[in-house]
Amino acid sequence: MISLKNVTREYTSGQRTVHALGGVSVGIAQHEFVAISGPSGCGKSTLIHLLAGLDHPTSGEIFVDGLALHSADDAALTQFRRRQVGLVFQFFNLLPTMNVRENVSLPLLLQGVSLAESEKRAADLIGLVGLTERADHFVHQLSGGEQQRTAIARALVHRPALLIADEPTGNLDSHSAASVMELLERIGAEALTTLIVVTHSAEVARAASRRIEMRDGKIVRDSRSAS
Ligand code: ADP
Repeated sequence: MISLKNVTREYTSGQRTVHALGGVSVGIAQHEFVAISGPSGCGKSTLIHLLAGLDHPTSGEIFVDGLALHSADDAALTQFRRRQVGLVFQFFNLLPTMNVRENVSLPLLLQGVSLAESEKRAADLIGLVGLTERADHFVHQLSGGEQQRTAIARALVHRPALLIADEPTGNLDSHSAASVMELLERIGAEALTTLIVVTHSAEVARAASRRIEMRDGKIVRDSRSAS
């Protein structure tokens, strides 16, 4: 599903070149749940930006679902992001003037899916994340955990091949973090999508079926190749 071959990403400003990724090669199977961890600055964000089609590598090859991201043009990358990728962030990024149902339906409406179909699919996802009773609530009426579960429903509603979550529990108290972790674990167990989670949390990493550790722009540990 995902294949990276000797991927590098360098950032140059003036005389200085930062080697954010120094030759990453890895394969991730469809529906795997992978946790990526490592100290700040080791290249995690750079890697997930590349996987999400938000950036091009300096060298190397990246294939996701058969598409060569390293050589795809902007139009192809835009299509890829809209159709194949769901993103979840630390700070939820929900629209405060909309309720849960509207936030979750929005990606489908923007794709031109009818209102009736969008609301039906949104209701299914809102059920999956356990927020049916809260569907009419606005963002400020939700706890942090409920907001993140709404964001996860929104990221899944267009049935992406790949869900990428960047520190999804980083801004949550332990109770809310546990509810989000349980949800991610369920998404992984039910094989709803390929799931890549960047996390500092050892608990979230344990919930994943595979753990990858990075240091200085490289993968230094991979539980799958180690086992
Ligand atoms: P992490 O997500 O693990 O904290 P990043 O991928 O954000 O790591 O960063 C990896 C390295 O690349 C760091 O040294 C960082 O300073 C550098 N870097 C990231 N983005 C940029 C950028 N846009 N311009 C210059 N350097 C960058």
